[in-house]
Formats: sequence, C-alpha cells, structure tokens
Amino acid sequence: MWEQIWQQGLLGTSFWHFMIAMFVMTHITIVSVTVYLHRFSAHRSLELHPAVQHFFRFWVWITTAQSTKEWTAIHRKHHAKCETAEDPHSPVVKGIKTVLLRGAELYKEAATPETLKKYGNGTPDDWLERNIYTPHKLKGVFLMLAFDLLAFGPIGITLWAIQMMWMPVFAAGVINGLGHFWGYRNFECSDAATNISPWGILIGGEELHNNHHTYPNSAKLSVKPWEFDIGWMWIKSLEFVHLAKVRKVAPVPIKDTSKQTLDLDAAKAAVHNRFQIMSAYTKNVIRPAIEEEKSKAHQELHQLFRKAKKVMSRDESLLSDKAIIQRDKLLSSHDLLNEVYQKKQELMAVWSRRSASSDELLQALKQWCHEAEQSGIDCLQEFADQLRLYTLKAA
Ligand SMILES: [Zn+2]
Ligand SMILES: [Zn+2]
Repeated sequence: MWEQIWQQGLLGTSFWHFMIAMFVMTHITIVSVTVYLHRFSAHRSLELHPAVQHFFRFWVWITTAQSTKEWTAIHRKHHAKCETAEDPHSPVVKGIKTVLLRGAELYKEAATPETLKKYGNGTPDDWLERNIYTPHKLKGVFLMLAFDLLAFGPIGITLWAIQMMWMPVFAAGVINGLGHFWGYRNFECSDAATNISPWGILIGGEELHNNHHTYPNSAKLSVKPWEFDIGWMWIKSLEFVHLAKVRKVAPVPIKDTSKQTLDLDAAKAAVHNRFQIMSAYTKNVIRPAIEEEKSKAHQELHQLFRKAKKVMSRDESLLSDKAIIQRDKLLSSHDLLNEVYQKKQELMAVWSRRSASSDELLQALKQWCHEAEQSGIDCLQEFADQLRLYTLKAA
C-alpha cells in the first residue's frame, strides 16, 4: 500500500485527475488574488466574512508566498502613481519585457518599508500574521508541495510547479504587463490600462483592467453587457450565502426621457457618469465627424485618418510625440474635427472643476450645451440635447 502511495499518491495519477486538480487549484489561487488581495484588501470594494478571509489568507500563503500587506501596498501604489517612474510595475515606464518576465521580482523590489507603511493600512496584523505567515513566508509553499506529493505521487511536483508559476505569470506578468499595453479600452481613464479580453475567466476577471482603472473601487470588473467577470460571479455566490457583501460597483447611467430641461440632477448625474459620457462622445460625435471628413478627403490623405479616433480621444499624456503631431495635423486641416475636439476638451474641463459649487457646475454645463447647440454640427447638437436626460434617481 505504501509503495502504491509513493508511486501514485492518494488520488492516483490519471490524466484527468491531474487536469482537474490543476484547474481547480490554480483557479482558487486566481480567485484568492482577485477577490481577496485585490478587490477586498487593496480596494475595499466588498466585505468578506472572517472565515472566508482566513481561507484566502491561508491559500495565498501556501500557493503564492505573498504577504497580504506587501501585495496590498504595492498595488495601491500602482494606482496612486500609475505610469510614472514611481509605479512599481508600469510597462509604459519599465518596458513590456521587464514587466512580463520579471513581474514577481518587481514586487520584491518595490516592497520597501516606506511603501508598506504608506500604503499598507488596514491589512492583517494578528497572531497568525506575526507568528506564521510573515516570519515563515516560504514554508507555506512547501506545505503545498507535501500535499501535492501525497495526493498525486511524483507527478505532484509538476502540479506544484504549475501552481507556483500561476500567480507570477498571470497575475503579475500578464495583468501588470499586457493590461497596460495591449487590448481594447472602454474608457479613456488617465492611464494606459486596457481590457485584454471581454471574458475574464482565466485570470478571474482581471482581464478587464481598463474598466478596473476607470472604476478602481468597483467590486465588479465587467461593465458592458457582453463582458464576463468570473470573480464577480464568485462574489455574488458568496453574497448569496451571506459570506460577502458588495460595497461599491461602477455607476450605471440612468436616463429619464421625460426630462425637459438640464437641471442640477442632470448635471450631477453627468459628472457621476463622466467616463461613460466621454465614451459616448467618442462614439456619437468624434467617430461620425471623422467618417464625414474622411469621406470628403482625397484618397492619398486617408492614411492620416488611420488612428484618428485614438489620437482625438486619448489624453495627451498617453500619446507619443508622433501621435500628437498626427493629431495636430488632422485638427489644423479639418475645421469640423478641430471643433469637436475643442468641445471635448471643454467638456472635460467641466468635470475637472472639482472645487466648483453645484450651481457653477450646472451653469458651466448649460453654457457648454448652449454652444454645442449653436455649432450647427448635427451629432454635437444631438449629444448636447441628450445630457438633460441623465438622472441620479433610480429608474
Ligand atoms: Zn494596473
Ligand atoms: Zn486595482
């Protein structure tokens, strides 16, 4: 019997046992990272029952050797200093290769006492943390190795190696690297974050990184109806059995078609939904204007329109020098594009007046709409007309 356990482990070595164990265990690791470390600990977007917190802390210890405080602090710093020299893992600053291949090392380098002190507030500091998880950081993963060997025999070493690679490769490398480098953007947030795939399964929903950087405190990372966030599915399942409570999700714009005038409620709702409104501006004003100008332009000039939508909608700080030259060339040679671009900048200036009183905000938005209506540009007039419908009142 002992010989059999030595060769095959307690669960046997069939291919399917191995595959199922691999998917289940790596998925639990990813859920621990996205739901516990990321959404719960770093962003406080949900509450978790203490028993669930303890399970995740234990699982993070045995599969990743990561400390909750370190991960939380480095991640909060990433949001606070995004795409600057102080960002612990920005591919825009450090290069995509470094972040993809040295993702886990970057965490170690970034975990300085100052960073932990400044950004690590509210992380566990109990007996378990002080006596087990922090001083014996690496022992957890050897406990996992012992379990894998006992369950699967020698092939357990392969399973363990895959488990150990899962977080550095996917969570640290792919999300921090590709998630700021490649993919689509629903929103023009102030950093380079991208959605890698509309279906967040393999990396627990973290694929939707542009949505996350736009609404960092939202427990749900999917926004569009066709996007799927498996982490959110687990949060809702935990909530269903009273083991979790969602604290915050991204706002969903509500329109009241009976509203006749632009009032304070509409102005406040517009600020609240500003990211969605700006992406509607790109879709309903900038894009039709580009198409109109392109259809009138000579074939030889079509090249200039190739990335027109991107260069006209993205924040200047995220554009290369070449892209800025292309944008300026487009704007100086097409009055229509110049006008819708200027109106976009003016609308963004309305949102950024943080210190303005509600009344000043309403006046600024009314002025913007008035000018848009006077512009004689159909798509701009229609867009301005829609702003009065926004409301903060639930439908
Ligand atoms: Zn990020
Ligand atoms: Zn985050």
